[in-house]
Amino acid sequence: MLNFVDVDLYIEKIKLSDIAKKYGTAVFVYSKKKIVDNFANYKKALNKKKGLICFACKANSNGKILEILAKLGAGADTTSGGEIFRCLKAGFSASKIVYAGVGKTSEEIEYALKNKILMFNVESLEELDTINNIAAKLKAKAKIAFRINPHVDPDTHQNIATGKKGTKFGIDYNEAVEAYDYAKTKKNIIISGIHFHIGSQILDIRPYEAAAQKIQKIILQLQKNGIKIEYVNIGGGLGIAYEKWQEYLLPHELAETVLPIFDKNKKIIFEPGRSIIADAGHLLSKVIYRKFSGEKNFIIVDAGMNDLVRPALYGSYHEIVPIKKSNINNKIKTDIVGPICESGDFMGKDRTLSLLEQGDFLLIKNTGAYGFAMSSQYNSRPMLPEVLVDKDKATLIRKRGTFKDLLLNEV
Ligand SMILES: *Cc1c(COP(=O)(O)O)cnc(C)c1O
Repeated sequence: MLNFVDVDLYIEKIKLSDIAKKYGTAVFVYSKKKIVDNFANYKKALNKKKGLICFACKANSNGKILEILAKLGAGADTTSGGEIFRCLKAGFSASKIVYAGVGKTSEEIEYALKNKILMFNVESLEELDTINNIAAKLKAKAKIAFRINPHVDPDTHQNIATGKKGTKFGIDYNEAVEAYDYAKTKKNIIISGIHFHIGSQILDIRPYEAAAQKIQKIILQLQKNGIKIEYVNIGGGLGIAYEKWQEYLLPHELAETVLPIFDKNKKIIFEPGRSIIADAGHLLSKVIYRKFSGEKNFIIVDAGMNDLVRPALYGSYHEIVPIKKSNINNKIKTDIVGPICESGDFMGKDRTLSLLEQGDFLLIKNTGAYGFAMSSQYNSRPMLPEVLVDKDKATLIRKRGTFKDLLLNEV
């Protein structure tokens, strides 16, 4: 939804320089149409099959964005009590909320049960016991799926590979059947599904296929043991092309390969986060200073690793482009860095950009997922605002934080 008209870069029908003027920088900007289109791709992939598309709201939990997805019929994939709270507030039906996470506390479990969420994606037997006990106390039944760690390597950054042997996630693939047999003995547990989520920013179909085949084997064994699985939850993890040349998978490609592995009457759950929201959002920032030091060019912008931690945390790449086309052919190689007192605080390294002036604007692209959501007030920098663009209308969906906010809750 980004395109140049003459020399100006637009998001939908709004000039990005107008957003910078009106809301200041740095600021996260989202395209509603892109969110709607990305969700529609999943709907098509489900292709009238019964199931749910549960947005992994940890990727971006702004209430207005959640509201858009809830209205489109999405469910929510949550990882904490706070996320369940946000999703209910944003209008998601509790019957479409699934809840994963290795460390659910008793308080969170009770909150989820009282709100009657669709199911818990259970990651250990101790967690199962806790859920069963709390459900008994509340005279409720808890619907569960076990999250299975299928031991596949999705070939992504080690911090976001979750289905490999030796990660903290899920129940070991070899112990899955036993776990279900155990769950069957629990009075306040209803076995509803099976879940796997092997990682994030996955660009290759093979790990999905390998994981799905292993999960299907477990389902068949469970059937023999008299345990019926209603939902197969294949997690999220589809990657996007952060670099233009990258090949990535579309939801329908994932569906066409993976869904036929399972019995056709199974209900399917997708849990996309990044592939719904990453390329719908961008971080607009301003050049504060330029300098040449140690035989390198540096452009210092007003967005830092507290606003966008992905480059520092995962060494991840985000395309960075000026929002005005320059007719100067003179290009320089430069690092684009933030103002934070850490050498790891960079937005991009060794980029080739046309010469920029102080006060020019740069767009750090595809930062809608794990951008604002992972931001902090480190260096006592107030949280950034967020703006949602719908055609020719821009709406502030989060105010810029203030200095006063920095003191909030301090006693
Ligand atoms: C984070 C997460 C997702 C979403 O991952 P993406 O890579 O953003 O699609 C889905 N399911 C679970 C359990 C997760 O933890």
